[in-house]
Amino acid sequence: MSQPYAMRISHHGDTNVFEKVSLPSKPPQPNEIRIKHISIGLNYIDTYHRSGLYPVPLPAVLGAEATGIIEECGQDVQHLKEGDIVGYYTATLGGYASHNTIKAAQAFLIPENVSAQKAAAILLKGMTCEYLIKRCFPVQKGQTVLFHAIAGGVGLIACQWLKQLGATVIGTTSNTQKAEIAQRYGCDHVIRYDQEDFVQRVQDITNGKGVPVVFDGVGQATFEASIDCLQPRGTMVSFGNASGAVDVMSPGLLASKGSLYLTRPTLGHYIATPKELQQSSSALFNALADGIEIHCNTEFSLKDVAQAHKTLESRAIIGQAVLRP
Ligand code: NDP
Repeated sequence: MSQPYAMRISHHGDTNVFEKVSLPSKPPQPNEIRIKHISIGLNYIDTYHRSGLYPVPLPAVLGAEATGIIEECGQDVQHLKEGDIVGYYTATLGGYASHNTIKAAQAFLIPENVSAQKAAAILLKGMTCEYLIKRCFPVQKGQTVLFHAIAGGVGLIACQWLKQLGATVIGTTSNTQKAEIAQRYGCDHVIRYDQEDFVQRVQDITNGKGVPVVFDGVGQATFEASIDCLQPRGTMVSFGNASGAVDVMSPGLLASKGSLYLTRPTLGHYIATPKELQQSSSALFNALADGIEIHCNTEFSLKDVAQAHKTLESRAIIGQAVLRP
């Protein structure tokens, strides 16, 4: 049996900070489970944890989601058993490893019709889509919405889910291949924001009315212009910073632009209880059963996580990606 290992960082920085270390075999405490990973999700937030944009206590094993097989259950674990195939999202990280020990309440069973290899790519991203479009701003049938980076990991799931809800999707992206794929997944209007004025295009598409909501995970590069895409009393959902953190804005701007709403949500607050976690993950698995496809054609060995981060930050990944332990 190969020695358990992790890819750890001991300081924040560029992609050279990862080092392979052995993991001591730690038996699970009461209410914990020890998981042998099958697949690990690669997320943009991992790059913020690495760079220090979102500082984490060091040394740290990054990685917020994975799937695997339960090797051992601590005392008092009720709803899971050894041999179960589970997935998890955890804010305490530890995913970039062959094994992880987590609270049993953070894990949920992966349905048999979903591949554990690919599920790791969409747990965090899919639950993010669920809370963004169903609870943060509940999108209604017939509404037209703007979703940035539509061909990304979160974006391609959101695109399909918004279509399931009966919305018209305006999506932005930066190259021809991504634009074609977004269209294939149902995006009604793809805007090349590297070439076109997306505010003007949104106004043209909506006959000058603007959209009731913008979902913006790009951040600095798109935030201000996104505000100009909103109709009066519209909602700006700023949920990420792929292009850099958004500068502080005056609340007065929200008034002058049309009594707008601004929210900066994060997944942890929307799956804060075991019940919310189970509901969000179930909604995701139901949406998959209803036809949402996982677009995960990119896989890296966990040992090559530095290359995985470089590729993600270069905007070269379409859809989702995983790391293989
Ligand atoms: P993506 O796969 O979407 O990758 C980020 C994408 O952002 C790129 O592919 C690129 O798409 C776009 N982008 C625009 N400008 C830049 C830039 N300067 N540098 C790099 N990328 C840029 O990542 P994820 O799906 O993992 O995450 C999407 C966003 O959602 C991230 O901001 C992430 O932090 C956020 N997020 C937030 C959560 C929350 O609860 N708040 C939870 C999960 C994710 P293109 O080439 O098409 O422009």
